[in-house]
Amino acid sequence: MIKCIIQIVTIFYITSFTMSYSIAEIKNVFVQYSDKNAKKIFYTPSKQVSEINSPYIQELIVQMKEKMDGVGIGLSANQLGHPIQLFIIEYIDDKREPRLNMQDIPFQVFINPKITKASKEKISFWHGCLSALDKPKGKIATYKWIEYEAFDHKGNLKKGKLEGMGSIIFQHEFWHLLGYLYINHAKEFLESDILQSKVKSGNIQLYKPASKEDPFLLADYVIGESIEQYASRYYVAKKKNITS
Ligand SMILES: [Zn+2]
Repeated sequence: MIKCIIQIVTIFYITSFTMSYSIAEIKNVFVQYSDKNAKKIFYTPSKQVSEINSPYIQELIVQMKEKMDGVGIGLSANQLGHPIQLFIIEYIDDKREPRLNMQDIPFQVFINPKITKASKEKISFWHGCLSALDKPKGKIATYKWIEYEAFDHKGNLKKGKLEGMGSIIFQHEFWHLLGYLYINHAKEFLESDILQSKVKSGNIQLYKPASKEDPFLLADYVIGESIEQYASRYYVAKKKNITS
């Protein structure tokens, strides 16, 4: 079904709706931040994947790719209701309007990922999300580049560096695995059509160095830690909050 949609959501803004299906139908495909089960799926750190070569994981990857094609440039497993450490990304610049003249990112799978190194510089970007389709785009800062470790779809450990859109998408999806959405942190929001016209008129640059006021997406993640390590800090902090 989703494949039939000509052009819908990108991670940065919604383009024109020349599509065969309504937003309501798309919302049924991806878990929404406002869904009843969102608390368990979105707002807790995702679990580690232990058997990458299992049919369950292999089929889930195929399903995720199918659902993302034509509607997005990144998707985490918890957006389809599977709270495990797995996300996919794919970015092709000339399929997007306006073109950002960024390097294309081929389809890639990241399993049990962690960020091992990151730039001092931060970039501000307007994020949108397939799980927050009725929300305006929000301005968020992320690291300009990151180095990562993760397993690929075959279970091989891979290490790499991502810059430009690849770095932004990775951090957006990684943030989902930690248990958040951009809407929990952005302070400045704009409806897609307004954002689009401001970008066209040159009043807003989609990709630019972040200012100190821009909320930083990964502020409470410590570079080098696994999501389990992050989660144990998260649960300790939560317990303290409850008992204090
Ligand atoms: Zn998202």
